[in-house]
Amino acid sequence: MPARSHEVGTGPPDGPVVHDAVLADPAGTLLGLDFDGTLSHVVDDPTQAFAHPDSVRAVATLGRHLGQVAIITGRPVRQVLELGGFEGLEGLEGLVVCGQYGAERWDASTDELVVPPRPEAIEELAGLLPSWLAARGAATARIEDKGLAIAIHTRGLAPSVLHSLTGPIGDLAAERDLHVEPGRQVLELRGSAVDKGTTLTGLVHDLGTRHVVYAGDDLGDLPAFDAVDALRPRGVTGFLVCSASAEQDALVERSDLVLDGPDAVAGWLGAFADAVVARAG
Ligand SMILES: [Mg+2]
Repeated sequence: MPARSHEVGTGPPDGPVVHDAVLADPAGTLLGLDFDGTLSHVVDDPTQAFAHPDSVRAVATLGRHLGQVAIITGRPVRQVLELGGFEGLEGLEGLVVCGQYGAERWDASTDELVVPPRPEAIEELAGLLPSWLAARGAATARIEDKGLAIAIHTRGLAPSVLHSLTGPIGDLAAERDLHVEPGRQVLELRGSAVDKGTTLTGLVHDLGTRHVVYAGDDLGDLPAFDAVDALRPRGVTGFLVCSASAEQDALVERSDLVLDGPDAVAGWLGAFADAVVARAG
């Protein structure tokens, strides 16, 4: 394993772009990528969080060489396909998008999207939340109905709003047997116990993956980091990448490589793609 460097780089890293075992065996490699804050910048309007074009290009190149590329995101699959521009892209015929942490799954090879039924508790919350938030002085928080989950966004509001909502939302979720997923200026309630860790581990087992590279930026990525760390003693090479931000530093100490947000991730993915192509040539 390369030395863990916690210096935040703004471009392609000076050190190894990825574990050498990955470059020696790309076909045995799974590349897992978070979307928001990793492939795209976190912006005030989440409908405008488009993937960095350099990342999309690099991921398409990597898709031609690696065993599997998977986007694992809290967003519904359809949003990621619109914001990422991955659909129909040459090189990404094998792409898998695991939406809503993996509860939804789309395969580029078949264009099949599998979405489980909407939980009754989420349906109930959708009706309840506007008045519930208004009663707690948070009427301007943005409610995002994802179908299988509901997210409450507090970006642009005073930090005290998110802080004051955290406890009551926890109670609201517990009463309905829902899971709370905290993120950067967002609290999400969902019915599924699926997280990015179970999803990543499932892909590793399905594919017989020998090496996993995973990049993320937020608390929802921690289960994926845990999963990679749990796979290392079982002989799977792991390489963890943090897309760092001023809002969240929970992944920094856990990472093999720390990059300064989505622009630096794009530089790294380009360097990773170049290294894979050079080794293949
Ligand atoms: Mg993210």
